[in-house]
Amino acid sequence: MSDTSIPTPIETGEAYIESLRNRNLKIFYRGEQISDPVDHPVIRPSINAVAATYDIAQTHPELALTNSPFTGNPVNRFLHIATSQSDLVQQNKMQRKLGQLTGTCFQRCVGMDALNALFSVTYEIDEKEGTNYHQRLSAFIKLTQEANLVIGGAMTDVKGDRSKAPHEQSDPDLFVRIVKRDESGVWISGAKAHQTGCLNSHWLVVMPTMRLGLHDKDYAIVGAIPVDAPGITYIYGRQSCDLRSLEEGSIDEGNAQFGGQEAMLVFEDVFIPWERVFMDGEHEFASMLVERFTCYHRRSYVCKSGVGDVLIGAAATVADYNGVPKASHIRDKLVEMTHLNETIYATGIASSFQSHETKSGCFLNDDMIANVCKHHVTKIPFEISRLAQDLAGGLMVTMPSEADLESPEIGHLIEKFLKARDDVPTRDRMKILRLIENMTLGRNAVGYLTESMHGAGSPQAQRIQIGRQMQLDEKMTLAKDLANIKMDQSKSVHTKQYLDRVFRPESPID
Ligand code: SF4
Ligand code: FE
Repeated sequence: MSDTSIPTPIETGEAYIESLRNRNLKIFYRGEQISDPVDHPVIRPSINAVAATYDIAQTHPELALTNSPFTGNPVNRFLHIATSQSDLVQQNKMQRKLGQLTGTCFQRCVGMDALNALFSVTYEIDEKEGTNYHQRLSAFIKLTQEANLVIGGAMTDVKGDRSKAPHEQSDPDLFVRIVKRDESGVWISGAKAHQTGCLNSHWLVVMPTMRLGLHDKDYAIVGAIPVDAPGITYIYGRQSCDLRSLEEGSIDEGNAQFGGQEAMLVFEDVFIPWERVFMDGEHEFASMLVERFTCYHRRSYVCKSGVGDVLIGAAATVADYNGVPKASHIRDKLVEMTHLNETIYATGIASSFQSHETKSGCFLNDDMIANVCKHHVTKIPFEISRLAQDLAGGLMVTMPSEADLESPEIGHLIEKFLKARDDVPTRDRMKILRLIENMTLGRNAVGYLTESMHGAGSPQAQRIQIGRQMQLDEKMTLAKDLANIKMDQSKSVHTKQYLDRVFRPESPID
């Protein structure tokens, strides 16, 4: 899609799916080039999940639509710049609902969080450097809102030797960098790993992945690129059990309709015109951008509480089908799963409630609580999955296939011997067990488990941020005050910094 061929606004999931057809993308999956991803049985569930972000604007407009200051028209929240505390809270509510509806990663939050982070960072770069990135970004946001597009945020570089800075790597392409500039724009080369929903996007916003130094100036590049720009290769990520999508039937897939998507993106001399460049060499702003993006994104992981709702429901259904829904240990496990799941939601939405306004007017959520939310997400889905597997029983992983169930020769044996409660068809029991398998071992375990661990930064990244902000001095002062230990009054607990974070004044909710 070029800048001059802006489509009419995409309003439905179906129209979105149509918008992905006939693009000239270079995609590889299992060593072969794919001509059209839209009808590819392995890729299609991930496209359906993004389509749900359009459909929700029709079915739940109160969650997914708001008014855009850029166009004056209603806009899908995934493209909206948060201008209030309420905007951030509503994002979380929409994310939980979409997790419930899809049981997977619906991929569109990366772009939302990238645009919001860039909105304030470009403002602050311009303020210091006299550049005009903010104006360019605003024009780009308007374009995406008018057409209702999907934006992919491309941040994670492949990184090479982790002990070395980008410019120190033996291969300079291990971080995305500018390889050429002229009066028309810049050309970039390099690769980005595990890019969520990249093929399902219309535009990619490329961003640096970490703090950069003076010698890394060529790596300090932010720009927007159409997904079908010449020079981009997509290498599709494998997912556990992905080939089940190629089989007959749909029971063994567990969740045949929805899935996530990650791919490796390779850029070879990809052109970005100046009007789509939002950072060029301002290396000292790279860490601010990464921190603001991860601040938004780490509380976006409330999506997993929506997915957790599905898994809790599946575990309760299995117990019900087995005839033991009221057994006390089962109730207790379901209570434990719910308690854990709500902990994710509580911390995410609390971070959004504790937001504050940046200089640009865009609201930014609380960084400490966002990191606590994401740190919970690195653990809690694993424990919920363990409990779901406990309730599912071993049959989940020893069960015969749908083909066996359909077999004229042995199908009746499966029907007879896998029967639990009299009034529950064996087929339904198999379906719910396959859903639990899908979410805890199969394709959607990518999103629910390992992505929960590493997406938006691995657990250690959150521990570093929590450590930086834990304000131990103030906490020690609290203790010393109560213990009546004499100290310098200037070190009193009532420091402005402490009060600002912990008791941040509430902003009006619109
Ligand atoms: Fe959105 Fe969650 Fe997927 Fe991230 S993991 S893109 S927050 S659905
Ligand atoms: Fe992610």
